[in-house]
Amino acid sequence: MEALKGIAGSEGYGTGRAVIISNDIPDYEDRKITDAAAEKDRLQKAFDGFLRKTADMIEEMKDRVGESNTAILEGHIMMLNDPYMQEEIMNRIDEGICAETAVKEACDTFIQIFSQTDDELIRQRATDVGDIKLRLLRLLTGTEDINISDVPKGTILVAEDLTPSMTSGIVKDNVAGIVTGMGGVTSHSAILSRALEIPAVLSVKDVMKKVKNGMIIAIDGSSGIAVIDADENTVAEYEEKRSSHLKNKEALREYIGKATRTADGIPVELFGNIGRPEEAEKVLECDGEGIGLFRTEFLFMDSDSLPDEEKQFEAYKTAAQTMGDREIIIRTLDIGGDKEIPYMGLSREDNPFLGYRAVRYCLDHKDIYSVQLRAILRASAYGHIKIMVPLVTCVEEIRSVRRLIEDIKAELDSKGIAYDKGIETGVMIETPSASEIADLLAKEADFFSIGTNDLTQYTMAVDRGNPKVSYLYSVYQPSVIRSLKRIINAADKAGIKVGMCGEAAADALLTPLLIAFGLNEFSVSPVSILKTRKNIGSWTKAEAVKVAESVLLMDTAEKIEDFLKKHVK
Ligand code: PEP
Ligand code: MG
Repeated sequence: MEALKGIAGSEGYGTGRAVIISNDIPDYEDRKITDAAAEKDRLQKAFDGFLRKTADMIEEMKDRVGESNTAILEGHIMMLNDPYMQEEIMNRIDEGICAETAVKEACDTFIQIFSQTDDELIRQRATDVGDIKLRLLRLLTGTEDINISDVPKGTILVAEDLTPSMTSGIVKDNVAGIVTGMGGVTSHSAILSRALEIPAVLSVKDVMKKVKNGMIIAIDGSSGIAVIDADENTVAEYEEKRSSHLKNKEALREYIGKATRTADGIPVELFGNIGRPEEAEKVLECDGEGIGLFRTEFLFMDSDSLPDEEKQFEAYKTAAQTMGDREIIIRTLDIGGDKEIPYMGLSREDNPFLGYRAVRYCLDHKDIYSVQLRAILRASAYGHIKIMVPLVTCVEEIRSVRRLIEDIKAELDSKGIAYDKGIETGVMIETPSASEIADLLAKEADFFSIGTNDLTQYTMAVDRGNPKVSYLYSVYQPSVIRSLKRIINAADKAGIKVGMCGEAAADALLTPLLIAFGLNEFSVSPVSILKTRKNIGSWTKAEAVKVAESVLLMDTAEKIEDFLKKHVK
């Protein structure tokens, strides 16, 4: 028995027998070919077969995991339909290379290029190309596609990397868990396992070497632990954890339809965060009262070129209509930093998090920004939309954005195009500068939303993705907690609403502090909505203030975290 540590990819517990899914490419003979036309015909048939099969998988998947999760496979169709990719493969056949080797060589070149970037999203493209390569080779060699849909009940899937086409076949009732050797929290396998609500532990070192088919495995997807060759006691322990986890999850359903209030009846708003318009439905399913953060950069990342005004308008309108009267806060483009978009021409910077990103980029590309703002304004005629500006550090930035919005409103007025004339514009408070001048920004903005993911990074001067300094990346640092208090006080004094859309909004340990400081709105990932409603409801203001008073006297993150752990309900 051995407990292996990985990344917590999808919460929950599971036990079962390992079924190893190999990503090995099928054997084939590397031939020199003489009839290029016939070989190209074979290759074309493989392309056609790939596109047909993928389209079928998408249709089948829509019913099981919802439309928002088919984007990855749609991306595969887009990639293989790209004339550049097809030519890269086809042209090799003219050099006398057989179709299999042409596929392998061309795909390996793409994989190498994508794997060498620092950007996780682009690195994931390497997984996509690897998946395309494997499936094309299977088609060319007549090898059966891996059929995950046939695995028996109580299976723990083990793979170096679970590709999207493999994951699409998963039958939720048969798969008790997933363990992979690669992938992070935002990897395809993580996203899909969360959508299917299957516990997953990712990036487990040497997992393919250590696990044998049929081995008993117990996994904890909430803390990222996979126990391999688990003994009876461990299995029993994990099974118990699993049933209590499921019971808790089920019990949370009682909070559906309830108002979000503190124990002494103070109302608080509880919203959801989304990245794609379809996810608005998930927010409603989880009984979110609005959307506190629509990260629009996904619209740009999911596309190979700038999404035009109509495409953006449709996306914002769809989300707004889904939410009806409920509020939806659309954050304008937040790229740069760790979010790179290849076609936007961002060059490499020594300090990307301190560089050309978010509102800085947008104000320097007013042509691109105006298209987005116009699309949001037009969509505001169809729901309760608010505009939110990321990474604001000084008042000039919000003033410039407001001027641009006023110009676009005048243009829409002159053309008789409808929009919400009372639309509000708020700022994200996610830098120490914005926190310091929160009183000044409160005079310029209609509302605040605190982005704790970045606020922690910038306050502590610690790259949020760098494991070497992650010990400093803590929202319990006294500096971060003081900053939260100051921001909320400033908003309160100015009489504007203040929300929080960073991950910390869902942290049960912080709930009493946020209630004590007077946060008006919590915006969390849809799966955390009901849990957060329960947490908020367990504190009276007086109890929360007492906890906050003690915490504000403490001098280290460790003491604060320990204290909160002891007092959390
Ligand atoms: C944040 O910084 O807290 C935030 C919500 O934005 P993002 O994680 O997209 O930077
Ligand atoms: Mg941010």
